[in-house]
Amino acid sequence: DIPLAEAGGLLTIDLSALAANYQELARRVAPAACAAVVKGDAYGIGLATAATTLWQAGARSFFVALLSEGRALRDLLPDAEIFVLNGLFPGTETAYQDHDLRPVLGSAPEIERWQHFCERIGEARPAALHVDTGMNRLGLTPAEAVHVAEGRDELGFPLSLLMSHLACADEPDHPLNARQLEDFRAIAALFPGVRASLSNSAGALGDPAYHFDLVRPGIAVYGGRPRADVAPLRPVVRLELRIARIRHVHEGETVGYGGAHTAIRPSRVAILSAGYADGIPRLAGASDLCPGAEAVVAGHRCPLIGRISMDLLAVDITDIAEDAVRPGDFATLLGDGLTLDNLARHSRTIDYEILTSLGRRYHRRSA
Ligand code: PLP
Repeated sequence: DIPLAEAGGLLTIDLSALAANYQELARRVAPAACAAVVKGDAYGIGLATAATTLWQAGARSFFVALLSEGRALRDLLPDAEIFVLNGLFPGTETAYQDHDLRPVLGSAPEIERWQHFCERIGEARPAALHVDTGMNRLGLTPAEAVHVAEGRDELGFPLSLLMSHLACADEPDHPLNARQLEDFRAIAALFPGVRASLSNSAGALGDPAYHFDLVRPGIAVYGGRPRADVAPLRPVVRLELRIARIRHVHEGETVGYGGAHTAIRPSRVAILSAGYADGIPRLAGASDLCPGAEAVVAGHRCPLIGRISMDLLAVDITDIAEDAVRPGDFATLLGDGLTLDNLARHSRTIDYEILTSLGRRYHRRSA
């Protein structure tokens, strides 16, 4: 961990908000069960703190993308049910057994590999089945799923979950949602007694018809906004950046790379000590053509200006009293009313990308 005195920023993770968000989601989807998606280092929050907090909050089923993540999670949570979403890579079967992980099988070769493995070790180890209903990414085709259902007695291992993934749940009126729901429902009916799971955060926060037995929220747990028509839950991340320098810029001068922002008046500019290497999107600052995100400096909202550099960014603090802010002070980029959703939208990206990019150069602490 980087000591605060040396760090360009302070990243505070609110663990009580994380726990409260999980519990709120679990309450909203009941009687369906609520898992937690903790891939990508728990969306950048930090796997260890997030997973233990979520376990304490009541989560018992977890999803990661990769075997390495599953292994790390198993060390933290010996009794959790852990699914590995990205499939069973050749030669990794024993690691799944050693760490009691459930592979999510999404192709005939993966199923065969798991069958052979179970046969070889003489133990029918459970796995999950992924059916593609419109994402066209991972998963069996519906026809392949029907074939598996027909041969279920000879499968050679128990299915602990049947899942699919929504492509457009953030747009509730998108016609693909209803099509995916209908197809998944038909396939789930072929697997009686197997838990079914379709919804991510956006699905979990909408029509209960999409909930099935288990929902798989990620972003909503971490305080992100999965769909525009639903308010985000509690913010989990607070990000404060150190002011490295305060400078004066003449009217007509530009700030930063590409001269993308021109000062339209004599300006005072705070240079903060973080940039795109720390996950602040390069397009977060205002250009002459486009408004940008904001930071809170000495209690006032001030615009980010110019292109974000690798390790630095500029904030226009002209309207703040000169003696109210000094180099070494911190400005807030997330928190004090500035949301993840807001920063993401001004940067033409999504909450997920901001969180998972936050980087390793901040001093991190949990509150
Ligand atoms: N399920 C699967 C298969 C995923 O890939 C993801 C994340 O992308 C999720 C669930 C969680 O999605 P969200 O963060 O939108 O809740």
